[in-house]
Order: sequence, then C-alpha cells, then structure tokens
Amino acid sequence: MRPDSRPLLSIVAPLYNEERNLRPLVLRLVPVLEGLGLPFEALFVDDGSTDGTLEALRELCAADPRLKAISFSRNFGKEIAIAAGLDHARGAAVVVMDSDLQHPPEIIPLFVEKWRAGYENVYGERVDRASDPRIRVALTRIFYTLIDHIGDVVMPAGAGDFRLLDRKAVDALCAMRERARFNKGLFAWIGFKTIGVPFMVEQRAHGASTFNFARLLRFALDGVMSFSSIPLRMWTFFGLLISGCALAMAAWFFFKTMILGVDTPGFATLIVSIAFFSGVQLISLGVIGEYIGRIFSEVKGRPLYLVAERIGSHNQGGPLQP
Ligand code: UDP
Ligand code: MG
Repeated sequence: MRPDSRPLLSIVAPLYNEERNLRPLVLRLVPVLEGLGLPFEALFVDDGSTDGTLEALRELCAADPRLKAISFSRNFGKEIAIAAGLDHARGAAVVVMDSDLQHPPEIIPLFVEKWRAGYENVYGERVDRASDPRIRVALTRIFYTLIDHIGDVVMPAGAGDFRLLDRKAVDALCAMRERARFNKGLFAWIGFKTIGVPFMVEQRAHGASTFNFARLLRFALDGVMSFSSIPLRMWTFFGLLISGCALAMAAWFFFKTMILGVDTPGFATLIVSIAFFSGVQLISLGVIGEYIGRIFSEVKGRPLYLVAERIGSHNQGGPLQP
C-alpha cells in the first residue's frame, strides 16, 4: 500500500526525437499536475530516439522522482509506445498525450474534473486542425467517414490520443495485445462512460511531425483492417455483380448471333475486359494478402516492444490499485 490514500494520476507521453520539446513540456506539465492536488507520475516512453532525448530523460528523472521513463530497444512507433506506457502506468487514471506540446497540459484538470464526475474515457476533442496541412485534414476526413461506415466502431469526430482513461479502461486496453495497433479505434472499442472535452491543438513546439504520407497511409490501413472485414467481403459482392453482368452479356450475344448472324470479332473489348478483370483479381488478392500479413504478424506472438532501459522508480509488481 502507498501511504498516500489519494488516487494516483499517471501521465503517459511517447517521445521520438523530442529532445527540444521535452524540457518545455515538463516545465509546463509539472505545475499543472501539482495544482491538481493529486499524487502523480509522468511516464515517458522513449521510442528509440536517436537524438539526445534519452540523456535528457535521465537527467530529468534523476532530479524529480515523480518523473520516470522507459526506453525501447528501437523505434516501435507511437501506437506501441502508448501501449507500453499504459502497461507501465500505475495510476487510478492515466492521461495520454503527445510530447510535442500540441496537446496543452492545461486541459488535464478539465479531464480530471470529468473523471471525478464518473467518466471513464474522457477524450480531448480537437476543435480545429489549423495546425495540420490542409491536404492532411481533407484525407483524414475522408478516412473517418469511410471507417464510420465500414468499421465495427464509431470513433467520435475530433477525438485523438489526448485523453484520460480510468484504470478499468486502461486494464481493458492492456489486455489487448494486438500488434497492428490503432489506438483511436481501441479507445472507442472498449466503450465505458465516454465524454469529449474540446481543446485547441497547438503548433508543434520544435521539429517536424514524423507522420509523412506513407506513414499515415500505413496507419490508415491498420485502422481499416483492424476494425473492419468489409474490404475482404466486398469482393464476393463485386464478383457476383461481374458474373451477373457476364451472364447477361452471354445471353445478349447468343440471341444477337442467332438473329443477325456472326458479328465482327470484338478483339478490343476482349483485351480491355481481360486487363480489367485481371486487375480486379490482383486487387482482391492484395486485400486478402494484407489481412494474411496481419494474421502472420499476430500469430508469431512476438512481444509488442522491447524495453532497453527503465529510468526512475518503477513498480515491478504491475499496476497499483487505488
Ligand atoms: N512518436 C513516437 N514514435 C514515433 C513517432 C512519433 O513516439 O515513431 C511520438 C512523438 O514524439 C509525439 C507523438 O508521437 O509525441 C506525435 O507525433 P507527431 O507529432 O510526429 O505526429 P502528429 O502530431 O503529426 O500526429
Ligand atoms: Mg505532433
């Protein structure tokens, strides 16, 4: 038992090459947390940074026992880094946030207020995306419209990773060991009493986002394939539709030949349709391949991440209950 009977609040923040953002973040975060009057721990997950992030973490954690960190053996990606943070956080509530100061720490007291009112899944709702390039905003909108229609879960508009999770929600997430992780979907999938708190996304303090187009595309594919099997099933309907058309065409040609006799051979149509349907078959094989690839990576049963170093005082005995 901890001597303090007040519930512990954990902050989880993934970092990938955030050397220049880390100290400004801590400087803004700690006073906010102190103002809450709750004991807290801030758990930083160094996702295989190649700059001075790890060094800075060592120094900060040595100076303040409420700060701790784990460092991965290599870069595993933000989704996995958040999973690791949730695994290691001991709080009765856990706040997940980016470490580039796009998620203002000043919103955390509002999250805690909702949590005290009984909400277990409190998400930050971005009210504008002015900080993102316009093309990214447009593509994001298309993606979420798509996933709302074909996915198993409804993800609230504007919800991101910045949120507070009650211990119950954290335990539920920690029980899900899938490797192709799409946290936004998982946060929605677990349910619990959910509410949004609006906030303005700030500009990234230093450096640039690591999510380029290719990475976002991969991320979107993870999102669709983890939460929908429609891409697999749609080929059945498409196949039926094409076969139906082919049968109708066969009937049409049969009667035309019977009445008008043999026509000029339709060489061009033949080539076009062969090319088109070969393309369709390759696409459907590709979709199946995507799912099989994911099944393959899940059945290998590898750990989600590898911790190279633990910094600060970690409780080895698993989550501490309030
Ligand atoms: N991040 C991470 N691993 C990565 C890429 C990013 O832990 O491989 C962290 C990064 O340090 C930041 C957060 O994830 O705290 C969001 O990253 P970024 O700002 O690049 O993404 P964006 O804000 O554009 O979505
Ligand atoms: Mg960012």
